[in-house]
Amino acid sequence: MLYYNLSTYLRERYGKRLKKICIDGGFSCPNRDGKCGTGGCVFCGERGAGEHIDPTASIGEQVRAACSGAAADDGFIAYFQNFTNTYAPVEVLKERYDAALVDDRIRILSIGTRPDCISEEICSLLEEYQKEREVWVELGLQTVSDETARLINRGYPLSTFESALAMLKAHGIPVVVHVIFGLPGESREAYRKTADYLASLGVFGVKIHSIYVMHGTRLAEMYGEKRYTPPTLSDFAEAAAYAVARLPEDTVIHRLTGDCPRDLLIAPEWNSDKNAVLEAIRSELIGKGYRQGSLFEE
Ligand code: SF4
Repeated sequence: MLYYNLSTYLRERYGKRLKKICIDGGFSCPNRDGKCGTGGCVFCGERGAGEHIDPTASIGEQVRAACSGAAADDGFIAYFQNFTNTYAPVEVLKERYDAALVDDRIRILSIGTRPDCISEEICSLLEEYQKEREVWVELGLQTVSDETARLINRGYPLSTFESALAMLKAHGIPVVVHVIFGLPGESREAYRKTADYLASLGVFGVKIHSIYVMHGTRLAEMYGEKRYTPPTLSDFAEAAAYAVARLPEDTVIHRLTGDCPRDLLIAPEWNSDKNAVLEAIRSELIGKGYRQGSLFEE
């Protein structure tokens, strides 16, 4: 096995793959509404991810639609994807998470959020959900560099990420860290620094995204003004393979690609062929004699 992917983890733990239900929970983001910034991260679209989700459907409708017609022994991951899914008072969070947990076949509750929207109160709420099912928090990091973080308008320093991660770990909540390779101002050395940092965190899972320029984003403006050039597939594959090799063997790799809807993708063209991206990473791993953990250092 070249790397420990999510399907393998799910088969080991549940004996099967679980289907992911991507949910728009009706949240906003403090990096858009003015609390910590406006305009959002430069790569973020108007929907804050999850562009394919019906924005008019309630949380319950989204989940029921995804579960309808599924077999009795199917299993699901309820994934709150759009915007910042811990950005509300805990009573509201509870209401919205409960609204998603309407089917016993939902085995995992996964919450995508920002580190500056994690608190002791929220961690305690998530601990309650852990009594019934697995709970993951998906935390955006994107880069270890505070300089790039400013350039992409991320809106929080690395120290905020570190505090949130420590808090979640103290509550025993598994964390999936998201990074992006190909951000403005970054190249091989910067990707490697982020990969080295990621490997040192001892987290449950990672998502490694390839960058993409999507319509309606500030990155699209930068690209149009020739202030940003995306990496080549070969550069991305090299960075992703290095990151995989640096990670501990037991870290679950949830994703190794970016997922831009085809009709919204501006560049790079290679991002639209997920299989080709995965194959390029695989070739890079094999060519270098790497597998997950082969460059891990305690
Ligand atoms: S934190 Fe997430 S939702 Fe908010 S602007 Fe950045 S990418 Fe978009």
